[in-house]
Amino acid sequence: MINLENYSRIVQELKSYQAKLVAVSKTKPIEDIVELQEKGQTIFGENYVQELFDKSKLLNNIDWHFIGHLQSNKVKTILPVVKLIHGIDSIKLLLEIEKQAVKLDVEINCLLQIHISSEETKFGLSYQEAKDYLKETDFQMLKKTKIKGFMGMASNTEDDNLIRSEFRGLRRLYEEYSHLGMDTLSMGMTSDYKIALEEGSNMIRIGSAIFGMRNYDEK
Ligand SMILES: *Cc1c(COP(=O)(O)O)cnc(C)c1O
Repeated sequence: MINLENYSRIVQELKSYQAKLVAVSKTKPIEDIVELQEKGQTIFGENYVQELFDKSKLLNNIDWHFIGHLQSNKVKTILPVVKLIHGIDSIKLLLEIEKQAVKLDVEINCLLQIHISSEETKFGLSYQEAKDYLKETDFQMLKKTKIKGFMGMASNTEDDNLIRSEFRGLRRLYEEYSHLGMDTLSMGMTSDYKIALEEGSNMIRIGSAIFGMRNYDEK
């Protein structure tokens, strides 16, 4: 069951920040997506390649964002159906995307995922890895892949100050590189999107506040 009250409230809250909402529909049925689409939602986020691919075949007029951890061997499948890939967590993956995008002759927008949390389990490049890469000429030579900005997930904690400082660090990186044509800073989920917006996020990824608890756990 969709929580339309939450949805409307979040859409309203976003306006003053000029931020976009990615409705994270992973594990949720087509009917829920259609219902939200009818309310005007156009961007949907998914974590699993096959699930996104299958849903994309059944629905039109959606900007699909891939927000999960992408395996190199799945790049081919996802490229033709996705508008933005949030989770570029290694340069190897970025180069594989470029290779496949050239082959398929499609343009693809990406965000570099930065490991901003103090938790080991989350994916992402370190600040140093990202900076080193962005310094290389190599990055300017990507033909089909556009790095539009950064994505980060804060620590899963009650400590708002920690969350805030993690988001703030990513915002600083974003500002440092925005002259490279970047326009997207993807940070904030159900539990921490308000802090993320205050710290400069312009794209939040919301699942459970809109769609309710997920049918199966993070897999
Ligand atoms: C699942 C997921 C979300 C949404 O999480 P909620 O807490 O349900 O809002 C956001 N971002 C990523 C990367 C996710 O995997």
